[in-house]
Amino acid sequence: MEKTSSESEPAPDKSPLRKRVAMFCHDDPLAQLGAQESGGQAVYVNSLLRELDKNGWSIDAFARLDSRHKKSVSLIGRNSRLIRLQGGPIKYISRKLLFDFLPELYENFLKFINRQNSYSLFHGHYWDGGWLAAKASKQFSVPFLQNFHSLGKIRLQVKEQYSYKNNGKDIFDKRLSLEEEISKHADAIISLSSSEKLFLQQQYKTFEEKIEVIPGGVNLKIFSPVSRQEARKKLALPEKELIILFVGRLEWRKGIGTLIHAANLLKSEVAHLKVLIIGGKIYGRQKNTDDFKEYQRLLKIVGDLGMENTINFLGCVDNNRLHLFYCSANALVVPSYYEPFGLVTLESMACKTTIIASNVGGLAKIIQDNVNGLLFQPRNPVDLKEKVLKIHKSPELAKTLTENGYKNVVENYSWKKIAEQISNIYSQLIGGKV
Ligand code: UDP
Repeated sequence: MEKTSSESEPAPDKSPLRKRVAMFCHDDPLAQLGAQESGGQAVYVNSLLRELDKNGWSIDAFARLDSRHKKSVSLIGRNSRLIRLQGGPIKYISRKLLFDFLPELYENFLKFINRQNSYSLFHGHYWDGGWLAAKASKQFSVPFLQNFHSLGKIRLQVKEQYSYKNNGKDIFDKRLSLEEEISKHADAIISLSSSEKLFLQQQYKTFEEKIEVIPGGVNLKIFSPVSRQEARKKLALPEKELIILFVGRLEWRKGIGTLIHAANLLKSEVAHLKVLIIGGKIYGRQKNTDDFKEYQRLLKIVGDLGMENTINFLGCVDNNRLHLFYCSANALVVPSYYEPFGLVTLESMACKTTIIASNVGGLAKIIQDNVNGLLFQPRNPVDLKEKVLKIHKSPELAKTLTENGYKNVVENYSWKKIAEQISNIYSQLIGGKV
């Protein structure tokens, strides 16, 4: 386990001022993945930072310190660092509660830099990171770039559409007005998909010229194909069963309930079915309270349907081992009600695993129906069941989809490629050209 160290460690950076960037993110990019506080955003920041570092940038990523066992400063790459600042209690706190601790985080950021700016650009992630980046940008008259990763207005609309109880209305109110402010003041915005870009233009009145669509990426060294037989052997999974996989954080909007209902419908048509659900800190002493709550809700559905022998909750799996699960599965199902992007789809494509995803947000942009995956109507277990049967009955179709997906991902989605595009935006912003 990492030990706490002093914040006064010498800065490793010797690069010129114009290549120094400060990022703000709430997810600890080095945290264990798959829990509430560390999903796609952590992967995104970590991967991007390493590639930008290789490109000659020197990045300081500031995140909230959430454990006394973590270092205050961790070196990443040759010239970049992760700096964990105190903001509120040093433990996991729900994203919904972050707002109150932002001023303290900002004050500690100022202390860390001795109130003297040495960055030529601020890059905010999510609404909380955007708040910090906007504040720093104003104080030091330096440009700022924003990645929302997810938009509060879409989340709220989805919750209302499905009449899901909304206990956090006031939090949404705060988040929405912050997002509006951020989108107004940001010098440039990176949208993960063209649908998010359109939404920003229409619902946040953001100028089109400021928004650049750049998708997320995938680590092609970690995620690559292994034969199904070999992967199952390594994981001690049965050879013949139809295995459906879910990978992601345990959240209502991920639609795992739809997957469980679809599996229930499939039971009568498929003799040997296994559903593996990966994600959520739900076991052991280090349980995450929000993950555990959602797990209990899902367990109740499983129990009510008598599906205990089919549905398996595996908890978090190390990112380096995940490819074996993708390669073991007959299909990855991404049943989200809202999904701004969905890195898991790229990982699945890179492993040549068939994807069946709901027709929403970023998923509908990465996946071309019947070309590199199958799309189904969100929250429709009957449609999902039909799509699983379609690939089950036609291995040829499954093969075509995965070959096309693999080609797509290798050509377009390496982190190297994504970082090059972002590096160009950095240079333009610093040069005053955006
Ligand atoms: N992940 C992981 N272990 C887990 C669950 C998820 O490494 O147990 C990773 C997964 O490989 C992916 C990320 O967490 O890279 C989830 O990203 P995605 O964009 O799909 O969802 P988000 O977390 O942004 O909602």
